[in-house]
Amino acid sequence: MSKKIIIAIDGPAGSGKSTAAKNLARKLGFTYLDTGAMYRAITFLAIQNGIVDDVAAVIEMTKNVSLKLKYENGLTRVFVNNEEVTEQIRSFDVSSKVSEISTIPEVRMEMVKIQKRIGEEENLVAEGRDVTTVVFPDADVKFYITASIDERAKRRLRDFKNSNVDISFDEVKANLEKRDKIDSSREVSPLRKSEDAIEFDNTGLTPEEDLEYLYKKVKEILAIKKQLMLN
Ligand code: C5P
Repeated sequence: MSKKIIIAIDGPAGSGKSTAAKNLARKLGFTYLDTGAMYRAITFLAIQNGIVDDVAAVIEMTKNVSLKLKYENGLTRVFVNNEEVTEQIRSFDVSSKVSEISTIPEVRMEMVKIQKRIGEEENLVAEGRDVTTVVFPDADVKFYITASIDERAKRRLRDFKNSNVDISFDEVKANLEKRDKIDSSREVSPLRKSEDAIEFDNTGLTPEEDLEYLYKKVKEILAIKKQLMLN
């Protein structure tokens, strides 16, 4: 089996990286891997089981869970223990707890194991908080996508409104700021820009403009790599 091509994208919540990663995957014909959906699924199950504050129980649960992602028609469908939780994992409740669950090293280890396995089998556009640094440190192309906090909060508010969640701009912004802080300051795999990642601030840009930029960069870098391999 030949080595797969991996495009890895990290960045804070609401940076537009999910939309960008999905669009890029579609254009390249690669599989899209939403690593955040996996941490959300674990968080959802922990809330459902009433063990969200019991670290040992969350670890035990994570080791025994069956977690499946199916990417279909622009949507990552998520199944835990064969139950579909695609919508539930996007709730504000899950968003409020997911960063705390994601600080648990044993949970991260399990998730990273699954993600690496997927990367051995398929050409990927993977996105998350540690995919450029920990999951795929040897990715072919790495991006760190970001945008201003107000722009990110506006985007997330729009997502919640589209799902008929009644929430204010200030609540969304406070949640993003809290998540950014936990994600960047945790001891294991904190969110940070990998030195070899291309930084892309997309404040004020449309998803189409994001895609144009990313696609061009990927093509350039892959062409250079191919040239180097031929020489
Ligand atoms: O990307 P999304 O906002 O869905 O991610 C939800 C949360 O999952 C993040 O705020 C972060 O706490 C966690 N996460 C992580 N590592 C990843 C992806 C997501 O810790 N690779």
